[in-house]
Amino acid sequence: MTYQTNVAKRPPTPAHRLLWRLVRGFRLKYMLAALALFTATAIEFLIPLIGSATIDFALASKAGQSNPLLRFVMNLLGGPENVSGKLWLPAIAMLGFAAIGGLFTFSQKTLSAKASDGICKRLKDQLYDHIQRLENKYIDQVQTGDLVQRCTSDIETTRIFLAAHVVDIGRSLILVITAVPLMLLMNVWLTLLSTILIPIIVFFGYFYFKKVKFIFKEVDEAEGRLTSVVQENIAGIRVARAFGRHDYEIEKFAKPNLEYRDKSLKLIRLMSWFWAPSDLVNLFQIGLALIAGSYMALNGHATVGTVFGFLALLNIVLWPVRMMGRILTDLGKTIVALTRIEEIMQEPLETATDSAEIKPAIPSRGKITFDKVSFAHDESSKTVEDVSFEINAGDTLAILGPSGAGKTTLMHLLMRFYDVDRGRILLDDNEIHKLDRGYLRAQFGVVLQEPFLYSRSISDNIRLGVNSASREEIEDVARTACIHETILGFREGYNTEIGERGITLSGGQRQRVAISRALLRNPSVLLLDDALSAVDNETESAVIDALTERHGKRTTIVIAHRLSTLAHADKIIVMEHGRITQTGTHHSLTQVDGLYKRLWEIQTRLEESFEQETAI
Ligand code: ADP
Repeated sequence: MTYQTNVAKRPPTPAHRLLWRLVRGFRLKYMLAALALFTATAIEFLIPLIGSATIDFALASKAGQSNPLLRFVMNLLGGPENVSGKLWLPAIAMLGFAAIGGLFTFSQKTLSAKASDGICKRLKDQLYDHIQRLENKYIDQVQTGDLVQRCTSDIETTRIFLAAHVVDIGRSLILVITAVPLMLLMNVWLTLLSTILIPIIVFFGYFYFKKVKFIFKEVDEAEGRLTSVVQENIAGIRVARAFGRHDYEIEKFAKPNLEYRDKSLKLIRLMSWFWAPSDLVNLFQIGLALIAGSYMALNGHATVGTVFGFLALLNIVLWPVRMMGRILTDLGKTIVALTRIEEIMQEPLETATDSAEIKPAIPSRGKITFDKVSFAHDESSKTVEDVSFEINAGDTLAILGPSGAGKTTLMHLLMRFYDVDRGRILLDDNEIHKLDRGYLRAQFGVVLQEPFLYSRSISDNIRLGVNSASREEIEDVARTACIHETILGFREGYNTEIGERGITLSGGQRQRVAISRALLRNPSVLLLDDALSAVDNETESAVIDALTERHGKRTTIVIAHRLSTLAHADKIIVMEHGRITQTGTHHSLTQVDGLYKRLWEIQTRLEESFEQETAI
């Protein structure tokens, strides 16, 4: 993403703070999960210790040589005399504790899954809401695939971490903090020998963590590029087919696909370089404890029960060490994912630059003034320069000019998709940047040349944003846009689904559905950006006539290329290279030399020769 904003960005938030902020509102759930975990862990310790105590006190009669911890456990069971006669008692106790431990583990997992799902739902909502309100300059330049990647895959990475590993980290800490003192209580030398290699794994893990973050960022970005290519390809699949670009498209996909595979392999290689040696060191550690324990048991420095219990505890302590690889991998991934999500959240919103906002209680009258307006999409060129004109409320303004002249940009500036660099735009007598943005946009009904229709029914597409509209109102606007009869001709009429799940409308039909949609909002100002380019002359005239006849006078700005559409406008402006080169009415402009007169002559000649040809 190369987008640069004028608004100074905050410095990046440190990862631990991002994580802490993320769990806000769910910290109690996590604390309860930790409590459940603590209990489950205590029980996990108790089970092998019951076995050890039974060996020493009830089976091998080594009560004298055993250690205080096992004595304590044996007393919990009622003492050696009690257990010797009832060997089923420790077995039942072990089973019972295992079942209770299972219940606590279940509660802990349910609590952390609820917390992680809740957090991720909230994160998705926040992200989606933020994207809806991002500045247009950002949306123009961002890659859709990359954005989708951040909203889906990055959030999923975070969810997995929050569901599984936040509690795992707590569990690891509890295990190490409680197990080591217990082991020390049982046998100091054996403890030292059994943990001697662990610092090596921890040290190794720290470097692994640093590296995994870096490589995962590369993998995630490569996946984003791959998603972008797929998304673009599917969106433009017809163009690609029409131009026979099949091979080119496959090649275009192959490169990021290969890149993604290579980066993923790099990550997997790094993981195996950590996991395999750390597992090996772990096994060495167990081997060392086993040899030392057996030696001590044989030489009477420790009882069999102590060694048995000790090995069980060691296994429990080594669990977090073995898990460290997985936790560090997912922690690294989550930090990268969260940072990428945070990058979007830091992008300024449209409203970020708003100062005082006026929100009039009544709809605008529709008077529009452009006063010496200049705007550039980028520093290298001026898109619109020194544009001034005025439209009285209820009048129609037509804008004519070659492609790229800046006509659409004028509409975008009017709706504040972008803010002017210089000059002022007024709606009625208010400067638009002082008006509440929601109010401002509600005043306009806009139809673009290639309108976007959703994969929903025709009536839902027309109703967009006006949920309360009745069927009569929808049909009324569709009649004005000369599409009502066509819609009735579809098998399911207004309920016909459009797009992926339904029928494909022709360009002209789409434009007229979009005009209906704009009209339903009953806007003060109607903006038609080449909105009838795909319909025939006759339908176009019918729509224009119906617009004025059925809905009375409303301010209308029309961008069109057919001069016959523009001829009835109250005012016509001609734009070339971002500047207004001519202003007038159809009559006045056909009297003076200029682009308008030239186009008028060409179009009249064409129409005449067409009529002659069809008359023959
Ligand atoms: P018209 O509607 O007259 O065809 P536009 O207003 O769409 O022209 O575009 C005017 C100029 O601004 C063109 O040169 C176009 O390339 C450029 N332009 C339009 N939109 C953007 C954008 N989002 N980012 C950068 N340049 C743009």
